[in-house]
Amino acid sequence: MTPESALHELRARMGAVNLRLLESLLEYYQVARMIGQEKDRLHLPHFDARREAEMLGEILEANAASPARLPDDMLARIFKEIFKNSTEFMGVQQRKTLRVHRNSGAGDHVITLPHGRIGGGEAAIIAGPCSVEGRDQLYKTAKPLRDAGVRFLRGGAFKPRSSPYSFQGLEEEGLILLREVADELGMDVVTEVLSVKDVELVARYADVLQVGTRNMANFSLLKVLGSLHKPILLKRGMCATMEEAILAAEYIASGGNNDIMLCERGIRTFETWTRNTLDLAAVALFKQETTLPVVVDVSHALGRKDLVARMAFAALAAGADAVMFECHCHPAAALSDADQQLDMEQAVALVRHIRDCDACIPSSM
Ligand code: PEP
Ligand code: MN
Repeated sequence: MTPESALHELRARMGAVNLRLLESLLEYYQVARMIGQEKDRLHLPHFDARREAEMLGEILEANAASPARLPDDMLARIFKEIFKNSTEFMGVQQRKTLRVHRNSGAGDHVITLPHGRIGGGEAAIIAGPCSVEGRDQLYKTAKPLRDAGVRFLRGGAFKPRSSPYSFQGLEEEGLILLREVADELGMDVVTEVLSVKDVELVARYADVLQVGTRNMANFSLLKVLGSLHKPILLKRGMCATMEEAILAAEYIASGGNNDIMLCERGIRTFETWTRNTLDLAAVALFKQETTLPVVVDVSHALGRKDLVARMAFAALAAGADAVMFECHCHPAAALSDADQQLDMEQAVALVRHIRDCDACIPSSM
């Protein structure tokens, strides 16, 4: 046999092994798909470190017993890659079956509120103070916004503060003020609900119930909001992956409430010059992966006011349907988030700017 024909024969053997490997991989991923479906049914995470270690142990044991034994570290690398891809594959399969996914067959979801729409083309603006502090403060903040064309008034009545000694919000009194001022000006109310026990109360006054970043994974709350007939603004957890945020939205949708907006509000990173890091890729990917309107809360993402306008435009360019920002008639005196709230002159200038420039940002890209 010539050296050429020996190589030819070995290559033919290699080709046949490749096909057998392919056959095994096809079966592997078929089983992975079924495991993924079963895990979804049982609400179990796709990744299971203990199970992977167990499988790898079985493989290395069989390798040790084989006469053609391979180096353990090489085999471990190959199988870890297969396991990793298998977990990703389960995620992709699961995502395609979600109600909020683009593949669900539904078109872009538009939230219709009494005074306007969120989603569907025109950039919406949700603005107002961090917290409702009193009638005078709320009115002096809301009025210039409404005069500039803002139809969605935000303001916290139940505040999720890091310290229990910080201002906790006016609670029901704050809700009453929001409703009164919004009705007087012809605006819709967006306000946070912190706990299951307050859902009914907040829903009595609000047009949109906000789930804050700290509550994105409060699944009991999400389930209750799923049975509500009011739109929900769901903020991404500050340490949540995009997939986890989408699954949190699915919790609400699976209860029958499809009126959900996904809100990117910055994630925690090592950076300290901004309060959080605004993840603009998440904005584009939420639009690509889901049918939900996407809101970007620039104020909580930045924690400072000097970049709010620039990042609001960046958010719109990334595909956001709405921008949310905080403003105050007297920011220095604000009872919460004083550093990041625009004054009313800055707020009105930004609103005008967004309204003027909205048409130059292509929504179809
Ligand atoms: C808020 O919008 O008032 C708020 C507290 O935001 P986050 O949950 O994003 O911190
Ligand atoms: Mn705030």
